[in-house]
Amino acid sequence: MILSSDPPPWWSTGLQSECLSAASSGFPLEVCGFFVLEACSGRASFRPLRARASTHSFRVDPQEVVRFAYEIMDRQWTVLGSFHSHPDGTPTFSKRDRLLMDWGAWHVLGCRLNGVWEVTFARRSSCTDATD
Ligand SMILES: [Zn+2]
Repeated sequence: MILSSDPPPWWSTGLQSECLSAASSGFPLEVCGFFVLEACSGRASFRPLRARASTHSFRVDPQEVVRFAYEIMDRQWTVLGSFHSHPDGTPTFSKRDRLLMDWGAWHVLGCRLNGVWEVTFARRSSCTDATD
């Protein structure tokens, strides 16, 4: 995993606004979701996931993961990356956070620092380091 100040090539101010809006709505709890490429429109969009969350972690029910996996298949989406928030402002990824990168090459972390949400990007450096 490599932290990157450069956003993914598919990043937009609209996506940033959508995921940080979800993070803000979920505050003070963590939120999570995925960025997908929609086959029909060719555009990237943000899809929040329902999760059981606390102020420092979240857990997605297996049924929700299965529902999302079927939605990806049915709608011919490609997962571009994942997102989650750190309402407490911690700017680093935990070991569990890194598992989100199994879903896509990029991860976007939304951190709330001094009342302002900011994003940090991370990308996989290769196929072999997804779990390091
Ligand atoms: Zn985290």
